[in-house]
Amino acid sequence: MADSYDVAVIGAGPAGYPAAIRAAQNGLRVVCVDAWKNRDGTPALGGTCLNAGCIPSKALLESTELVHRAQSEFAVHGIRTQGITVDLAAMQKRRAGIVRTMTSGIGALFKAAGVTAVYGSARLLAGRRVEVSAHDGSKSEISARHVVLASGSVPAELPSMRFDHEYICDSWDALEFDAVPPRLCVIGAGIIGLELGSVWRRLGSQVVILEALENFLTVADQQLALEAARHFKRQGLDIRLGARVAGARVANGAVSVEYADARGSQSIAVDKVIVAVGRKPYAAGLLGPDTGVKIDERGFISVDEECRTGAQNVWAVGDCVRGPMLAHKGKEEGVAVADRIAGRYAHVNYAVIPAVIYTAPEIAWVGQTEEQVKAGGAAYKSGVFPFAASGRARAMEAAVGFVKILAARDTDTILGVHIIGPLAGELIAEATLAMEFQASAEDLQRTIHAHPTLAEAVHEAALATDKRSIDNINK
Ligand code: NAD
Repeated sequence: MADSYDVAVIGAGPAGYPAAIRAAQNGLRVVCVDAWKNRDGTPALGGTCLNAGCIPSKALLESTELVHRAQSEFAVHGIRTQGITVDLAAMQKRRAGIVRTMTSGIGALFKAAGVTAVYGSARLLAGRRVEVSAHDGSKSEISARHVVLASGSVPAELPSMRFDHEYICDSWDALEFDAVPPRLCVIGAGIIGLELGSVWRRLGSQVVILEALENFLTVADQQLALEAARHFKRQGLDIRLGARVAGARVANGAVSVEYADARGSQSIAVDKVIVAVGRKPYAAGLLGPDTGVKIDERGFISVDEECRTGAQNVWAVGDCVRGPMLAHKGKEEGVAVADRIAGRYAHVNYAVIPAVIYTAPEIAWVGQTEEQVKAGGAAYKSGVFPFAASGRARAMEAAVGFVKILAARDTDTILGVHIIGPLAGELIAEATLAMEFQASAEDLQRTIHAHPTLAEAVHEAALATDKRSIDNINK
């Protein structure tokens, strides 16, 4: 007989595990099935984010930023160092240790919340039955009143350049290199390309980033993108725009990458290629016959605003459904679905989802870009405050970038906040909260910000929307 539960969650990534925990907090009997296996064959909870994405990349970004600062900044502080060397094996061991701690932490959270964890791959059958194939090959069946699909996403592959995981690498491979590739080509100047390009550049790789689009970082406000491009260039990231990749050839331990740009056909020789051209939803083998769950033309599981799939009591959340592929968006959807299942109120505000790029300087935003506001046609005002005028940023030797706030001219409502500079990813939380509360720029202006902090730059940018900044006179 099949084990029966109130809720079966498929996937224990950042969308699935919060759904399972919240469902258990709501007093429901919950099982969470996850198929993840690490490269050494061990199963792990946490999905891409914890095992092969957000967490390991932030570990390496932190380590390599320290290398960069030790090399270029310590002397300015009057700290003399000699012969800084990098022990990549130790750096990678730290990264792996952080991942292990975080992923086993999810196992502990499941235990504490009373969620049953099952390691294996799950297939939804008609009638909310779930067939589980354990890693040892044995099969079992679960039935549940509700099923939550949280199967995530996988790196997109270029047809002209299949992953071989040695020369043509995906983002997971690129987090686990055991030697610094002297010459590295990154395909795609998106979030992953910029973060991983930065990591290996700081460790000494010559990095060329090929981007198909003519404009840089089109997802971001273009004033921010321009500022970012300036810094990345200075750091030695060779970003080539309008570069359409035609293919790659591996021979004699090197890769020749062919691409075309405005000047014609080009070719570069490198030691490794990282393909970072986006991710695609993952639902391979997830759906048996007659489940009633539909996949759209782009491969996403079709859902409504509240993450219902259309099959009764089957929900889907996170990267496998529409919307930005961001862990925190998936988490909110997972929690909301678990609350809806329990008959509680839930809401995900898709208009107020912050985005962060963990480069140096860090880049973060929430709400609309200036380009989007302009296209909307409503009258608006913009306030910009440079970190060069922030005492705290100066003290941190991090006085680069700015905060930019866009607000509606008539109602003063904040429409978008864009930050490039120190700890932008932390500072954006205040802006996100303000927008969630539908704050006006004046609300931020009248909020006391501690001095001297980086957050004062947000305060001053709000003042600047009315040309009333105190620390940066802007006529
Ligand atoms: P992305 O969509 O951010 O960027 C991919 C880039 O590749 C785009 O600029 C695109 O124009 C370019 N591209 C596509 N095909 C190309 C080609 N043939 N040649 C050259 N360039 C090409 O995707 P990503 O950086 O791979 O990230 C995937 C997802 O993961 C994104 O949704 C991202 O939001 C998410 N992610 C988020 C974070 C974070 O929050 N810090 C970090 C990593 C990934």
